[in-house]
Amino acid sequence: MSPSTVARLRDAMRQADDITHLLAELVAIDTPTGDRGGLDAALEVVGRELAGRGFAIQHDSGDDGLPVLIADRGVGQPFGLVGHLDTVFGPGEAARRPFAVEGDRATGPGVADMKGGIVTILRCIDFLDLLGSPPALRIIINGDEERGSAGSRRVLVERLRSARAALVFEPGRPGGEFVSSRRGTVRFRIRVAGIAAHSGVAPRDGANAVHDLAGRIVRVAALAEDLPGCDVNVNLIAGGVGINTVPDHAEAEVDVRTSSLADDDRIRRSVEQIAEEPGVPRTTCSIEWLASRRPLERHPRQDALIALFTEAGADLGFPVSFIGTGGGSDGNLLGAEGITVIDGCGPVGDGYHRVDEFVRVSTILERAAICAAALQRAAERSPHA
Ligand SMILES: [Zn+2]
Repeated sequence: MSPSTVARLRDAMRQADDITHLLAELVAIDTPTGDRGGLDAALEVVGRELAGRGFAIQHDSGDDGLPVLIADRGVGQPFGLVGHLDTVFGPGEAARRPFAVEGDRATGPGVADMKGGIVTILRCIDFLDLLGSPPALRIIINGDEERGSAGSRRVLVERLRSARAALVFEPGRPGGEFVSSRRGTVRFRIRVAGIAAHSGVAPRDGANAVHDLAGRIVRVAALAEDLPGCDVNVNLIAGGVGINTVPDHAEAEVDVRTSSLADDDRIRRSVEQIAEEPGVPRTTCSIEWLASRRPLERHPRQDALIALFTEAGADLGFPVSFIGTGGGSDGNLLGAEGITVIDGCGPVGDGYHRVDEFVRVSTILERAAICAAALQRAAERSPHA
């Protein structure tokens, strides 16, 4: 970056109006995942801000009917800027634990994950405008990310498939790192149907679903032994109706974390196999796949942007580094479709998903400036991409 560009960005960061104002407005609206009223209200705020910056706003909806906001500006292949407005917190949380700022530290439900990220997107646009001739942009904001974006994933992928890259504004890691890879999640329910019987009078008439499930659980739990990149945990179990009845039903829910697409495929195949293996006679076993996320693998197609982010950070005096992390995001869905993803572009704090969540307010402007400088540089290098 030229010294004058650095000076202009740093100047703009000093003069940025009170960004906590907008953050406060968003945090004050409760947006539990799936809460239509809260999401609509928060999307209206974001739509207003984007329209004010010259974006054309479209309202799409996910397969579950929840709103997804799409905003476009500029011609040519866009960069995607991706955020979610839902939080993990329930209704009434914003009143119980209102937005507050103390020094550089802001608190309140979703202040980092990821209402702070939404504000970062808006400031990134402002900085791109300041630098002149901003690239085409497509903003996508959904409201079901915290439950795996089961409803919005189709819209996300379709609308970003042709993007040059997608920047996901999940919070940066507590050490300030951006995110280049994320583990995947495979979740499923194993169900066993057996035959009920009185366990004293006619036990041999029954087919014990709990016994069958127990055997399969042992084999599922052992899957991680052959796949060192995976963690397998059987986290829920249920079955039976009473101490004196052979159970005709048992089920367990399993959470698997995977590090590569290949492991992800392998786990799924092995689970299907375990379900088909013989068990307790006259029981039947089935697998129900639950909302999952494929891993976001570190891929060479990210290299060019990672280099530009690192350069931008060095020029601006905010060192940039990248790491892989365990938690999933919409970056997983996009990366698995072959879209170039840079994740963790949002501000930095800690305690995400907890009541002690906070964000360092100054990092909103830092991340916005880094992202803007990197995108500007990418657009300059290949303007017609
Ligand atoms: Zn998030």
